Amino acid sequence: MKVVVIGIGLIGGSMVLDIKALHPDATILGIDANENHLQQAIDLGVVEKAGTTEDLADADFVIVSVPVDIALVVLPQVLDAVGENTIVFEVGSTKLPICEAVANHPKRRNYIATHPIAGTEFSGPSAAIKGLFQGKTNIICEVEKTTFKLQEKALQLFTAMGMRIRYMDPQSHDKHIAYVSHLSHISSFMLGKTVIDKETEEQDIFDMAGSGFESTVRLAKSSPAMWTPIFKQNKKQVVNTLEEYISNLSKFKTLLENDDFDAIYHEMQSVNKIKEILNGINIKK
Ligand code: NAP
Repeated sequence: MKVVVIGIGLIGGSMVLDIKALHPDATILGIDANENHLQQAIDLGVVEKAGTTEDLADADFVIVSVPVDIALVVLPQVLDAVGENTIVFEVGSTKLPICEAVANHPKRRNYIATHPIAGTEFSGPSAAIKGLFQGKTNIICEVEKTTFKLQEKALQLFTAMGMRIRYMDPQSHDKHIAYVSHLSHISSFMLGKTVIDKETEEQDIFDMAGSGFESTVRLAKSSPAMWTPIFKQNKKQVVNTLEEYISNLSKFKTLLENDDFDAIYHEMQSVNKIKEILNGINIKK
């Protein structure tokens, strides 16, 4: 088995660590615009050596795991270079613009659009983790546009990695993911900003920051290079979610200003059902 990973960071690196564990004889080659990341990936054993565009022609799997703006450019070029039996999957956090970018590509049938819902706030090859995808959901879009034989090959691999498959059209993916992922990141970034801005005046604030703050602000450590193009590509959906979120914050503020503590209590109580929802998600996994 020959695998080429383009963009050897958290997601691409974690995928090839799993592939190597499942298929010890596989040859794993890496391509990355960042020379340091490529070298680090070789030193860490995430990939064997650097690959080239020529390696794409007889590769079994090509993983495109670059920021979503880069994927718009790289994915069509990758499809130009792959052979008939190569399956290309790309793992970007937005799906509609990427699916549209290759909709009329002559080798569209060699591509499967995926979004593994797994990750951490860290990036680069040193962030790659074996088993990252175990029990996680992999969203697949427009599966009918991929050759059946290659679909099967990809699905077998995802299942062997321990992923649960969900099929969705790209529009629905981008709409739903705006709530559970994109808004969560903005909320965390802006919470971090609010506290950092205040901390310049009040040195003591971080001495008092407990694990609640740390867990809520975790996503604010994420890479701006990865997140800016995600917000750009999913702007319309993200703006909609922000309007709803800001409206909820404003209503909460008004309740507080009006000393309406009964309403505040009930508001929080109704959101407590998130416990059951999250438990349900964990049970399904
Ligand atoms: P990452 O750790 O930053 O890795 C991306 C790698 O691609 C970096 O080494 C980057 O180099 C490199 N790169 C940039 N431009 C390139 C190009 N033109 N050709 C080849 N390599 C290039 O990012 P990641 O977290 O793995 O994310 C990769 C993709 O997965 C993104 O599309 C993201 O939306 C998606 N995703 C992320 C998560 C998550 O939680 N992080 C979860 C699911 C899906 P530089 O660092 O120098 O730019």
